[in-house]
Amino acid sequence: MNSTTGRPSESGIDLAFDRAHIWHPYTSMTDPLPVYPVSGADGVYIELADGRRLVDGMSSWWAAQHGYRHPELTAAAAAQLDKMAHVMFGGLTHAPAVDVCRRLLDLVPDNLECVFLADSGSVAVEVAVKTAVQYWAARGRPRSRFLTVGGGYHGDTFAAMSVCDPVNSMHSLYARFLPEQIFVPAPQTRFDGEWQSSDLAAFQTALAGRHEEIAAVILEPVIQGAGGMRIYHPEYLRGVRRLCDEYGVLLILDEIATGFGRTGKMFACEHAAVQPDIMCVGKALTGGMMTLSAMLCTRQVAEQIGGGRPGVLMHGPTFMGNPLACAVAAANLAILQRGEWRAQVAAVEAQLKRELGRLKTDGGFIGGNIRDVRVLGAVGVVETVRPVDMAAMQAFFVEAGVWIRPFGRLVYIMPPFIVRPAELTRLTAALAEAVQRPELFLP
Ligand code: PMP
Repeated sequence: MNSTTGRPSESGIDLAFDRAHIWHPYTSMTDPLPVYPVSGADGVYIELADGRRLVDGMSSWWAAQHGYRHPELTAAAAAQLDKMAHVMFGGLTHAPAVDVCRRLLDLVPDNLECVFLADSGSVAVEVAVKTAVQYWAARGRPRSRFLTVGGGYHGDTFAAMSVCDPVNSMHSLYARFLPEQIFVPAPQTRFDGEWQSSDLAAFQTALAGRHEEIAAVILEPVIQGAGGMRIYHPEYLRGVRRLCDEYGVLLILDEIATGFGRTGKMFACEHAAVQPDIMCVGKALTGGMMTLSAMLCTRQVAEQIGGGRPGVLMHGPTFMGNPLACAVAAANLAILQRGEWRAQVAAVEAQLKRELGRLKTDGGFIGGNIRDVRVLGAVGVVETVRPVDMAAMQAFFVEAGVWIRPFGRLVYIMPPFIVRPAELTRLTAALAEAVQRPELFLP
């Protein structure tokens, strides 16, 4: 007997087994935080096993932008299941892959022409990093360093982690194992602030001094997600593009969190009207139904790799181009192509600004615990002075009938675009109350 069992809850979910044997994201096996059993999800609601329905404020980490059990996505999955769930992509191809890639190319910046389908966001970043390294190898001028900013997040695999914020991602834990990259301070000018050109100085200095060893710059455009939910001025991105061109360095934009409408544009790079050489997408690509990601690049990058040795892009996962995921993603992109998301996200943004804006006072914020409030598109963030007590705040939110998952000093929401005004008010009201309750924070 190597498993612990307990009494299943009324849902039939054995929480004792879960607690004893299953890791959840970023948790301990010896002292895990509580988890809430879920029995279903529908529209903007997550249904707990005890029957409570929570308004979802997270879109399952940026992914379920049209809500859960969307009939078109479910139908696409069912129809594809009837044909084939999966076949290998080596030597074979299929309609769902061609369909999703064609739609993707219709939506992304028009300089991107070549698509690599991958399994998850982190893997798309790994493939982007490999693409940049192979590009320089093929040019006969090997380069292996990446330049990025502090406060970034690009995933949990090693190459991706190497360009994440070194403190948040605990680089010290993996010393000597993790490749060392070049970091400059995160952009400081706020999205809606007055652009300070000094913001780019450190970036420019790093690029000027070390461009001959730098394969690519990698950034999350406009919103830095899991590294701090910071929203920066698009002029920074324009400057980065200009400097990358000036010094002949590739630009990778990680649109895994920001892509597919979340920031009010189809892709966040559109706020700055810049085009990357390489782009990563994931998360909302399938509308949050299942995992699928992609690395896209220019024809020029692809041709350089093709013309060098070994001539092929050295990646090819077992489930590459999974037909089921591609079929759902194609249906999801079809929904986006209809364009309702623009009005939906604009309405969510206006309401977030109005309702979270009430936390502001003339010179600052109400209470003593709020450091900043920021909104862009369907993303609303309250940054606090003290770190949250995760278990206590999570329980408070569930009690309040909402699903909001804070971390560190960040209590934030990014609901499905289909959220109705009254549902969004439940989210903002719960968030506003939580950040004013001292007992939900660590000392
Ligand atoms: N890049 C960004 C910007 C992300 O937000 C994430 C996920 N939080 C990733 C990469 C990694 O994606 P995944 O978790 O699917 O590996």
